[in-house]
Amino acid sequence: MSNKVYCIGCGVEIQSEDQNKQGYLPKSVVEKSIDGNLVCKRCFRLKNYNEVSDVQLGAEDFYQLIKTLSKKDALIVKVVDIFDFSGSWIEDVVDIVGNNKDIVLVANKLDLLPKSVKQNKVKQWLFKMLKAKGIKVKDILLISAIKNQGVEEAASRIDELRNGKDVYIVGATNVGKSTFINKLIELTTGDKNVITTSHFPGTTLGMIEIPLDRATSIYDTPGIILDYDIAHYLDAQSLKLVMPKKEIKARVFQLNAEQSLFFGGMARMDFVEGERQSFTLYASNLVEIHRTKLSNADALFEKHLGTLLKPPFEDNISIFNNQVKKSFTIDSRKMDIVISGLGWITVNSDSGCKIDIHVPEEIEVFVRESII
Ligand code: GDP
Repeated sequence: MSNKVYCIGCGVEIQSEDQNKQGYLPKSVVEKSIDGNLVCKRCFRLKNYNEVSDVQLGAEDFYQLIKTLSKKDALIVKVVDIFDFSGSWIEDVVDIVGNNKDIVLVANKLDLLPKSVKQNKVKQWLFKMLKAKGIKVKDILLISAIKNQGVEEAASRIDELRNGKDVYIVGATNVGKSTFINKLIELTTGDKNVITTSHFPGTTLGMIEIPLDRATSIYDTPGIILDYDIAHYLDAQSLKLVMPKKEIKARVFQLNAEQSLFFGGMARMDFVEGERQSFTLYASNLVEIHRTKLSNADALFEKHLGTLLKPPFEDNISIFNNQVKKSFTIDSRKMDIVISGLGWITVNSDSGCKIDIHVPEEIEVFVRESII
């Protein structure tokens, strides 16, 4: 017989299996409870430390959440990781929410882009990318939540744009949504303990509610796990290397056709056809790049995945030993080939070139106009 228990804070079912998912509470705490009045870890942190932490949602729950949001008269603030900016999930959200909703894009982790990159250029680039996809946003705000850069400006712009309405903050896991919201909490409430969790009718989602005034609030929503993002398949040790912490240093390679570059053992770029040219790699500085002849690449991969070619590490290869080839023809200057969650390669080709990217099938790879 199963005995379901629910968090008295947010109303979600208590579980002890996965601490990244909602309703988590260690088994030992659940067992020690006398009256059965349990508070999940997320609500506990909120109540005691005034701090939000992310919980993850699968795609289905996420779409349910977005659908619910589409019926609200509210401002939607979408947080993205500028380093890992992928078009498709934004398109998905706009498909569901509709283009007549008020959306603000907050692009976080500005600190990771090389300092030489001008903020205005990044903003224009983002507007252009969204426009090309037919997505309208009220504004794009560039911030570094961790460095507290642009956060105050973002807060006052959001306040202006919300026009007295509620604000819902959405974002994939790991984009820095919690870090951003915790900074907003500091700005909005000081250290007063006024944040609560609220039950979202019709769903099983626990939302965090930060009151803005008597009538309106900011709501923190759970983050979606992007299953086309490399980060989703890496263990903690690998993630530490792959998720950049510091400003990314561009790495430039002059290659002849039929040469290959390995991103650890996670992905490989083959320069299949074209004149000798430069390729600029943007990925965490801790990801090692190995260069080899295309004719040696398969053998090298087979022999050294998890050892020389890491991450992933030997004991947790996950999906990486099963890679497929995704082919791209680049015929204009300054294009980025993006490998979701890992980084991108800027191809600066005068004469065009053919590139193959080897990655697990699940990982999204796409071409865009260069950000830098
Ligand atoms: P959430 O899952 O979206 O709530 O993301 P978190 O706020 O938990 O942050 C995920 C990771 O990104 C953590 O390792 C943070 O330290 C890091 N992070 C958050 N904001 C920034 C930022 O502005 N710059 C950088 N470089 N890292 C950030």
